Amino acid sequence: MQLFPCPFCGPRPETEFHFAGDLGNLRPEGFLGVSTDIWAAYLFSHNNPKGETKEIWKHLTCMEVFTMTRDTVTHQIISSTALLPEGEGA
Ligand SMILES: [Zn+2]
Repeated sequence: MQLFPCPFCGPRPETEFHFAGDLGNLRPEGFLGVSTDIWAAYLFSHNNPKGETKEIWKHLTCMEVFTMTRDTVTHQIISSTALLPEGEGA
């Protein structure tokens, strides 16, 4: 089992975390004016890159959301930070 670094709690088992989305996949502005295609792309389309990627994760024990940079090939955790860029949320 892999350990993920929660910025608030420290290293914890990966089973305590939930993937909350790709960093930079911003929620569409508005509500009624947003087409179903745009909503579907926001909700269900993910980048799935090979190599280094920045993602939003939620630690289900402390319920905090944070940014984690990891390599999808080696599974190496490069960094994790409590800061989310402007407009990001989960
Ligand atoms: Zn935590």
